[in-house]
Amino acid sequence: MTMKTTRIFASLLITAILSFASTLTYAESPTYKSRADIPAEYKWNLQTLYKNETQWKQDVYKAKKLADRFAKKEEKLDSDKQILTLLEDYFELFRLMEKIFVYSRINLDVDISNTSAQGLSDEGQNMMIYVVERTAWFSNELQAIEKEKWEKLLESPKLKPYYTHLKDTYEDKVHSLPPEMEKMLIKTMPIVNAPSELFTMMSKDLVLPSFTVKDKVYEMSAPLYSVYMSSKDREVRKAAFETYYQTLGNYQDTFASMLANIVKANNFFATTRNYPSSLEAHLERNDIDPKVYTQLIDTVEEGLPLFHRYLKLKEKYVGIDGSMHMYDLSAPSPFTKEDKIPYEEAKEIVIKGLSPIGEAYLKTLSKGLSSNWVDVYNTPGKATGAYQIGSYDSHPFVLLNYQGLPSDVLTLAHEMGHAMHSYFSNQNQPYQDARYVTFTAEVSSTLQEHLLHKQLMDEATTKEEKIHALYQYLEDFRVTLFRQTQFAEFEKIIHEMGQNEETLHAEAIKGVYYDLNKKYYGKDMEVDKEIAMEWARVPHFFHSSFYTYQYATSFAASAALAEQLEEGGSEAQNKIVKELFSSGGSLPPIDILKRAGVDMSKKEPIEESLKRFEELVDEFEELLK
Ligand SMILES: [Zn+2]
Repeated sequence: MTMKTTRIFASLLITAILSFASTLTYAESPTYKSRADIPAEYKWNLQTLYKNETQWKQDVYKAKKLADRFAKKEEKLDSDKQILTLLEDYFELFRLMEKIFVYSRINLDVDISNTSAQGLSDEGQNMMIYVVERTAWFSNELQAIEKEKWEKLLESPKLKPYYTHLKDTYEDKVHSLPPEMEKMLIKTMPIVNAPSELFTMMSKDLVLPSFTVKDKVYEMSAPLYSVYMSSKDREVRKAAFETYYQTLGNYQDTFASMLANIVKANNFFATTRNYPSSLEAHLERNDIDPKVYTQLIDTVEEGLPLFHRYLKLKEKYVGIDGSMHMYDLSAPSPFTKEDKIPYEEAKEIVIKGLSPIGEAYLKTLSKGLSSNWVDVYNTPGKATGAYQIGSYDSHPFVLLNYQGLPSDVLTLAHEMGHAMHSYFSNQNQPYQDARYVTFTAEVSSTLQEHLLHKQLMDEATTKEEKIHALYQYLEDFRVTLFRQTQFAEFEKIIHEMGQNEETLHAEAIKGVYYDLNKKYYGKDMEVDKEIAMEWARVPHFFHSSFYTYQYATSFAASAALAEQLEEGGSEAQNKIVKELFSSGGSLPPIDILKRAGVDMSKKEPIEESLKRFEELVDEFEELLK
């Protein structure tokens, strides 16, 4: 499929919170046994999208008709009037598909075990492929227009509302193939996705053995693993760590083969489409200069001595005897409160914390929080984690599995950032320009995190509260800025190895991963050999290549914006709401962020965020004395 179609696909993807980011304490079993028991105000109301499945099916039928009609219109493109009509049809169809897709997805995610919802979801996905196949000719024909004529067409006032889309499509020309080959590539998609699907199935089927500490037997699963990692009991952390990674190690060749095949596919598509590398292919798709990626890695590398200094302080703070091991990284703060935070209180904390963005923003935020935007509680069969999804014709939908932990409050703020971004962009942009890319998406969401951290630090009255709030903020830097950059470097290296035709067998991948841990965590840290298998449990490596760097860049960008909000008052508020939250994808992401107040083409924002980190580390050191 052409790059532009890929982008439309990508826009349907959800903005999910990064895995492994949260500093979890003990999770507990679902608050509710069934969805029926949950009061309506804490659940999505799917009827705002479709009254029932019959209505949904009618729209699927309508989409099929529109796709067939569009396919029949295939012809050489010549006039602005003709192109305008086609653009209107094209976006009408995708707008409808978006609504269809979102409904089938959220309908499934409230209960994955529901077979009728599974059927609906499959039908939605198949229809998406059907639509892409029947509309692909349009981009090809646009790209076939000769340059001189194209430039004239672009100046046509008729086509002005579609300028961004047209410009992007034409610029993708150098990476497009002849129509017959494009068609064939679309058909390869299910085969290409095989390793990624295998990873999902393997992770689901993998049996993790229980372990015993002090005569107590601990059941093991992927979600429980995070719980054990933040256990106060170091022996539990160690045993869980060893059990998990030794089990993954038993399947190391299977995991390595999946990852190696993903790298192969990425490199194949990059070469086929005339990109110098997979990295370039993935970044250019979102108008990001590859320099942004390498600059992040290089700049964070300069901050590693500072990071090591923090780890040393952390070791003291969480009370590690001797050197810190990898299984101590999520050890809990000694001042973690045991009390659960009720959801109603979490809402208040979030509203208060985000008040620096201004009144207009808060009004919409409060409205969203009280109008079924959020599906709050966990029930059996509900999708895990947290995400935001929405269509142009609906309000945003936020999925949570709220358990009342401090990290859950942070997650609520994060996902509401995505929701507000969607809401304001939909309100202020025409459909074709409303969808934003991840590079800007995660700026909105992590901005909420920075503000919430600041609020929690400001509110702390006792020394213990202050140090605890500070620690939470420092940990966010650890898991977002440093850890995600480490992931980014890992992906860069294995793709380069693949490109150089080095074999990516398990030992090779493990070697790269282990060395990176050594580099990132420094010589004072005990880098346990088991960590070499960690890549096998990071879904991004298997599902969304070259994605994680954006968490780090966004975190740095939003740190800068949070500072501006602190200093700039209403001027900064207006700029951020207007230029970041309301811009959708109307401009390249780097330009949007520039207008909002931060230039991510330069390394300064990364350096600034490291400076901010240093100030926090200094404060932490002072308080620990
Ligand atoms: Zn996010």
